[in-house]
Amino acid sequence: MRVLVAEDDPTSRVLLATMLKKWGHEPVCAADGLEAWSILEQAGAPRLVLLDWVMPGLDGPEVCRRLRAVETSDPPFVIMLTGRAEKGDIILGLGAGANDYLAKPYDPEELRARLGVACRMLELQRGLLEARDRLEHLAMHDPLTGVLNRRAVLERLEQEISRAARSDGRLFVGMCDLDHFKRINDTLGHQAGDDVLAVFTRRIAGNLRAYDSIGRYGGEEFLVITPATGKPDPRCLFERLRAEVEGSPIETRAGEARISVSIGVAAGSGKGSVADLIEAADRALYLAKSLGRNRVVLAPED
Ligand code: GH3
Ligand code: MG
Ligand code: MG
Ligand code: MG
Repeated sequence: MRVLVAEDDPTSRVLLATMLKKWGHEPVCAADGLEAWSILEQAGAPRLVLLDWVMPGLDGPEVCRRLRAVETSDPPFVIMLTGRAEKGDIILGLGAGANDYLAKPYDPEELRARLGVACRMLELQRGLLEARDRLEHLAMHDPLTGVLNRRAVLERLEQEISRAARSDGRLFVGMCDLDHFKRINDTLGHQAGDDVLAVFTRRIAGNLRAYDSIGRYGGEEFLVITPATGKPDPRCLFERLRAEVEGSPIETRAGEARISVSIGVAAGSGKGSVADLIEAADRALYLAKSLGRNRVVLAPED
């Protein structure tokens, strides 16, 4: 593991670095507190820190306090090394945010053991963060298609409305519903239906820009959100999506499926509500269906 060694005494620094290398770590050396801080500020800084207490520039506790002032879910593990072994100093060092404390002169084997504890803690922390990220992803995404789920896409819509309110902007939402999708299930089976949903979603997503969003609103209904950035007519995007879906058949495990999509589009501003926008898009979608499907209908703006 990369370990930052912040120690102003050159002999002690070299000794520490040598021991760390011998134990399989990769030392990164700093000769004073300021240098240590400038290394710790960088992205990808060592996550394990050996910090001398008395150093010119910034002392150990001050470096520690600065580290702890940074908001992060993956903070470094700090072991303070010092000649001070008074109880009050230990309390001060730990109070400044050190995870552990070792008085000089230290026993190398004790240091090694404490580094081992630090590595285990950091591994545990990483594991928990990864588990949290995985759960967060699962909580926000639809397992079949991989796009945002209903709750997440409605949250995104809320955010886009707030953004429009701040920037005096506009946005469009398209409610996309596959046409006669039940027939696909009935003729090719539900698993082939699932294949269609997955490919359909990839096709749509492949035509969106980074700032557009797509989410699964319901079974075969998807919500596409696009901020209106100088586009005169949102039908350009939605018409392209419609044509893309109709353009070529989808290979499923049970054979080829030809599909089309109807899209109801509503325009919104920062003043609208999620419910109003969805309702307007829904009404436009209903009209698209009744006009014969495979088309984009724009909700009238009031
Ligand atoms: P319309 O053009 O009027 O929208 O007709 P439709 O057949 O698409 O609409 P309907 O609401 O009658 O049927 C939707 C179908 O979508 C019924 C349901 O079984 C299917 N469906 C919903 N979710 C899934 C899914 O996750 N997988 C599969 N295979 N089918 C699904
Ligand atoms: Mg010192
Ligand atoms: Mg439907
Ligand atoms: Mg449908």
